[in-house]
Amino acid sequence: VEDDGEVTYKKIQSKQIMGSIQLGIQHTVGSLASKPKRDLLMNDFWEMETIAFPPDGSSLTPAHHYSDFRFKVYAPIAFRYFRDLFHIEPDDFLLSMCASPLRELSNPGASGSIFYLTNDDEFIIKTVQKKECEFLQKLLPGYYMNLSQNPRTLLPKFFGLYCFNYNSKNVRLVAMNNLLPSDIKMHAKYDLKGSTFRRKASKVERQKASPTFKDLDFAEHHPNGIFLESDTYTALMNTIKRDCMVLESFQIMDYSLLVGIHNLDIAAKEKREERIRNARAKLQRRDGTSAPLADADDAPEADQLQQLQAVASYASIPSTSAQGLNRTRSMNRQRLVAHSTAMESITADLDATLEECEDEPKGGIPARSENDERLLLYIGIIDILQSYRLEKKLEHTFKSILYNGDTVSVCRPSFYAKRFQDAMGKQVFKKTPTFPLKHSPSKR
Ligand code: ATP
Ligand code: CA
Ligand code: CA
Repeated sequence: VEDDGEVTYKKIQSKQIMGSIQLGIQHTVGSLASKPKRDLLMNDFWEMETIAFPPDGSSLTPAHHYSDFRFKVYAPIAFRYFRDLFHIEPDDFLLSMCASPLRELSNPGASGSIFYLTNDDEFIIKTVQKKECEFLQKLLPGYYMNLSQNPRTLLPKFFGLYCFNYNSKNVRLVAMNNLLPSDIKMHAKYDLKGSTFRRKASKVERQKASPTFKDLDFAEHHPNGIFLESDTYTALMNTIKRDCMVLESFQIMDYSLLVGIHNLDIAAKEKREERIRNARAKLQRRDGTSAPLADADDAPEADQLQQLQAVASYASIPSTSAQGLNRTRSMNRQRLVAHSTAMESITADLDATLEECEDEPKGGIPARSENDERLLLYIGIIDILQSYRLEKKLEHTFKSILYNGDTVSVCRPSFYAKRFQDAMGKQVFKKTPTFPLKHSPSKR
């Protein structure tokens, strides 16, 4: 069956996919509203519903300007329950998913999956292969047993599973939480597996504006790891350990820890530079001169800024641009998905009332680089829909012949989990030595 993978969606215009799935989701969330809330039943996990969307519309669906398509919704009641678990109101879900166009992300993965981001930054929609879709369906009951027991987890949160069918092609999609808010600049991004074999970002990837690096790159950039306060370190390691146990129990492998690093010290410097640039640009525009402060280049940065601010205020130009204000506001806004920031994900038992600074992004895990730079980490475990049990069957029979069998099948997911935990706990993250690093804005 060659109805999934990159071939299919590459032949369908992304616009068509995005528009159609928005119509599909709008319909399913809308029609769920008429079904009263009730306890989840086992067969809710297997249920699916297919709706036809003729371009001229029907008694159930609106007319649209895309091609004729069908939209299949997997386990609608079950996913509604999961959205509830994370306090996502139907109206909010609808607004996020359907009210504005989706944005397509460039994917560093090799699988050919496409990622769409909702305009408000809350959700990611990823195209998945048929195998992955089937695996997620099977996973749902057990996975959400774990989630109900413990919603504080770094595991991905799935909020919907759909199949868009057009021209006898299927595009399967999963909606999940976005780990990297795009209004917070990530100064580096890592996709870490705890393995070193070929774990280096490709040349093409490294040339991107915001590349996703891998394990070997991390070791090069952070030879001594990233430092966490003792309580934070323990909370993170406990969460990773518990999550790995769940993944191992489903014989899942090949997952990664996605780590986005916001460097507060670099960010402060960038902000300063931006303010200077803005003020200068405005002055230039006002005066029509090309170099209004030519000699200011020699002045130290602080003086230069002061000078510019003075001029700016005289000229009644706000010293912080409106753009800057907007960003600050959205950085600190409440996120839609409850207890899902990186910090909240790891602090089930920990009373995480960190004094947060007004103009600093929220939700990240405070850390330090080995050069004592202040960092905020945005992390989560991703790409968990590969089960050894299902996917590697064939490979396994082959390998069994080579390495004497069944020990391999039991061992591999557990080996993977152990190596993953070891790498995260020993190489990637380190407990701050002796003195506590207070994570408050140091006035530099
Ligand atoms: P692979 O070739 O490894 O199978 P894939 O197509 O399955 O790749 P993923 O490994 O799931 O894709 O993710 C690829 C990249 O997309 C990640 O390294 C990360 O940069 C980004 N990404 C994935 N999931 C999320 C998420 N929930 N939030 C933010 N970014 C994500
Ligand atoms: Ca991956
Ligand atoms: Ca994958």
